[in-house]
Amino acid sequence: EVRVRFAPSPTGHLHIGGARSALFNYLFAKSQGGKFIVRIEDTDQARNVSDATEKLMNSLKWLGIEWDESVDIGGPYAPYQSMERLSIYEKYLQELLDSGKAYYDYMTEEELQKEREEQLARGEAPKYSGRDRDLTEEQRQAYEAQGLKPVVRFRVPEGEQIVIEDAVRGKVTFETDDIGDFVIARRDGIPTYNFAVVVDDHLMKISHVIRGEEHLSNTPRQALVYEAFGWEKPVFAHASLILNEDRQKMSKRDESIIQFVEQYKELGYLPEAIVNFLALLGWSPGGEEEIFSLKELEEQFSLERVSKAPAIFDTDKLAWMNNQYVKQADLDRLTKLAIPHLQKAGKLPEELDDEQYEWTKKLVGIYQEQMHYAAEIVELTSLFFKREITYNEEAKEVLQAEGAKEVLTQFMEEMQAVNEFTPAEIKSATKRTQKATGQKGKNLFMPIRVATTGETRGPELPVAISLLGKEVAMARLEKAVQ
Ligand code: GLU
Repeated sequence: EVRVRFAPSPTGHLHIGGARSALFNYLFAKSQGGKFIVRIEDTDQARNVSDATEKLMNSLKWLGIEWDESVDIGGPYAPYQSMERLSIYEKYLQELLDSGKAYYDYMTEEELQKEREEQLARGEAPKYSGRDRDLTEEQRQAYEAQGLKPVVRFRVPEGEQIVIEDAVRGKVTFETDDIGDFVIARRDGIPTYNFAVVVDDHLMKISHVIRGEEHLSNTPRQALVYEAFGWEKPVFAHASLILNEDRQKMSKRDESIIQFVEQYKELGYLPEAIVNFLALLGWSPGGEEEIFSLKELEEQFSLERVSKAPAIFDTDKLAWMNNQYVKQADLDRLTKLAIPHLQKAGKLPEELDDEQYEWTKKLVGIYQEQMHYAAEIVELTSLFFKREITYNEEAKEVLQAEGAKEVLTQFMEEMQAVNEFTPAEIKSATKRTQKATGQKGKNLFMPIRVATTGETRGPELPVAISLLGKEVAMARLEKAVQ
């Protein structure tokens, strides 16, 4: 049975790299009729952030990535949070200590630090020297008597090769001599990630470990732990790194990319678009098609088509993709996404009555084709909220052109007569202006557009004018003919 997991550490919001790992695992489970598990790996307590678990899970839910087993809904291998599994780890740690595959190391942080510095000074890669590898019982007692608290280290065999058959990268070989005896439990007895992850993946019957390339270097250590217990390893699949547009490894401080799913949500991106975009970060279905629903991805995903070449995070492409979904989206949904942005910018009141809502819906509607994500609505609609219109050079020329004033004066007169300020009525006022002045095409529309909107380009004019409302539109026309 295929059982996969996403195992975030609760250190903050869901990062796009993490979201991609979660998605690949989810899609693989779905494509194979397997189970998808979310496990919280919180044994590195110094890095834990309160509420992070909730935030991570909310972001996953928002993306539509649902799990079969986790901390909230339980499951056959509960608990799904490392810190609630300490008694389990303790038992397995003891097993390794008893068999000599792990040992206590009493070196202090200062001593270890000194050792590392000396190695670096000699131009060597830092690696635990092995001082406490073979302590006698007396030596151990003596350290204990000094009140020293040991870490537990895994005894890495010397002179061996570790070969990982990675489902994405093929055969990857590591030398045990490059790996120092690594810590599997800290001084407080709490296991490290590299130990807990193996125990958990084994006990939870995880069949495939799908994660980012940044974890490839952990894999030989984990493989050693599997071997020490005589456990069968899962299939490992390391998806490529995600690079920024300068082909640099993304760091959390990199400001060229918005990195957290929550931020995209706040900007009014649509989860379907994010999912679609993330799926194509290191996976491709083959063929030209780029737009896939979650359902389609669930059917088409395969590990064979996960690439080991780095994936480039193309921000413009994400905006383009979101726009593809915005264009198709239900207008009420977009309106609800847009309203908070307009409110925050002080363009709309805190509470909208039905009329104001309908007005906003029409406003969003005229920008639906253009809008990449909801937060853009503030910029896009700025002409509707300006107190005073200013004209740029191009606009001034339009207003000064021959016949422009006449068109505007006539249009104002026609508009005075309009009862209902609807697009249809405004259209017919324009028609009547055409008849009366003999101006048509650009000569007719441009002065009206510039006078009412201040811009030479923009949304469909009769709709825009009707949304401005009679009072504002007339005041702007008035100003333009002065
Ligand atoms: N807790 C690890 C992380 O957040 C999980 C790595 C793994 O999937 O094994 O990076």
